[in-house]
Amino acid sequence: MSYEEFQPKSYWMKTRQYAPGEALQEDIDVDVVIIGGGFTGLSAAYHLKKAEPTMRIAILESKVIGYGASGRNGGFNMTLFGLTLSITALRFGKSKAKEAHHYMERAVDLLQDLVRELNLDCDYEHPGFLRVATSEKYKKRILHEIEFAHKLGLEGIEWLEKDRIREEVKSPMYLGAWWEPRCGILNPAKLSWSWAETIQPMGIEIYERTPVTEVTKGLQKITLSTPKCKVHASKIVFATNAWSHFFPKLKSKQTPVWTHIVITEPLNEEQYQEIGWQNRQGIEDARNLVHYYRLTADNRILMGGRDVSLSKGYNMDRDHNEKIFEGLRNDVGEIFPPLKNIKFSDAWGGPVSVPIDMAPAIGYLGDKRVVYSLGCVGHGVSLTHLNGQTVRDLVLERQTDLTDVFFVNRTTIPWPPEPLRGLTAKAIVGYMHIEDRLYDAKKKRSPKQLGRSS
Ligand SMILES: Cc1cc2nc3c(=O)[nH]c(=O)nc-3n(C[C@H](O)[C@H](O)[C@H](O)COP(=O)(O)OP(=O)(O)OC[C@H]3O[C@@H](n4cnc5c(N)ncnc54)[C@H](O)[C@@H]3O)c2cc1C
Repeated sequence: MSYEEFQPKSYWMKTRQYAPGEALQEDIDVDVVIIGGGFTGLSAAYHLKKAEPTMRIAILESKVIGYGASGRNGGFNMTLFGLTLSITALRFGKSKAKEAHHYMERAVDLLQDLVRELNLDCDYEHPGFLRVATSEKYKKRILHEIEFAHKLGLEGIEWLEKDRIREEVKSPMYLGAWWEPRCGILNPAKLSWSWAETIQPMGIEIYERTPVTEVTKGLQKITLSTPKCKVHASKIVFATNAWSHFFPKLKSKQTPVWTHIVITEPLNEEQYQEIGWQNRQGIEDARNLVHYYRLTADNRILMGGRDVSLSKGYNMDRDHNEKIFEGLRNDVGEIFPPLKNIKFSDAWGGPVSVPIDMAPAIGYLGDKRVVYSLGCVGHGVSLTHLNGQTVRDLVLERQTDLTDVFFVNRTTIPWPPEPLRGLTAKAIVGYMHIEDRLYDAKKKRSPKQLGRSS
């Protein structure tokens, strides 16, 4: 796969050059092999090598490093786990919701520290995060979540009233916001590739354009088949995220769901001043099918979310959805009326890994020689980095505070087989849509009403 082939996968991939490395050319025998070159695989490899410098570790990536969600996401380094804090509490109980939030805080801080310590080149900014209320019902929902967080003893989240939030960002839609200064934003493709360039000199082998087609467990070693060669390994890590269902043992643990993004041309000074987003926070709203948006280093607006595309059988080519792209372009003009005629440069999508209860799952698969980590849904930028440390501890068979976390080695609720899987996913998303419509303040204005010609 050449640079020209994968570069259209996201705007981020155009922000720097990357020359993919060689595919695996001969059989190898390693201590640990990691399938998947996204943040999970990269972080796990780094933390393993740091803990055990003599270990021979290889990453096998079917396309190029960062090809999956890691090179295409919104770049929010944030604390959200699962859908919301209160839904996590409903599913797992209050103390586990608190534990999950603490894990996420640790994940956000870890990523920021790694970026600084290792000088990872990713345009990292630390502007904090706003969850904005765009109707009275969402305001109630956010206030309830903040009250619940405080009751659990969680700190670092506060409510900003309407006047305060509009001093930060000028949108007529905002009625107040959840404010969380801990969070950051970054360029995810740059981060992925900077990771690759950081860990290779440590002795970690990376083979790109090397899809794993089969995994066979032997008594001594596990054998992985790739198109040309075999890899023999003592231990193996599945870091395949939304592609995990291609492996029979992981098939029922998650399903892929696509989220989409559009991005504007850079704002000019006048446009930038008009929307007054001088502190550059990452922003989400409080819908089930959230909007997430932010400024890039060169002052474009990235707008993502609003709806999702579902998988059809094993087809992983669902990146483009014109209806969602058009909706997102209109959303920019609705949230920021001075930008209603702004031009857009790119639109893309990517698959996230969704367990049926929308909470991550990490653990052993069968025996302690096989570890997997998946299910970060749309909030894996921070989480995958800390999961890399958790994976390290599982591979090294160490019991630590990370391996004791409740979602490690948890029993997952299986997705049913097709065609029920598709129908279940459709029903869940359908319910989310209905609730969002009830919560949205008013009917969305049409492109014509917004004065957009195409
Ligand atoms: C559009 C979008 C926006 C998002 N926005 C945010 C955000 O702002 N903040 C946030 O926290 N999270 C966000 N996420 C989620 C986040 O990007 C992911 O949770 C995270 O990147 C997952 O990392 P990963 O390494 O587990 O998986 P991936 O990055 O998906 O990596 C999996 C890799 O495995 C490879 N692979 C699969 N099968 C094989 C095989 N058989 N052999 C070899 N290699 C294989 C794939 O090619 C891929 O590179 C977003 C996701 C998307 C798609």
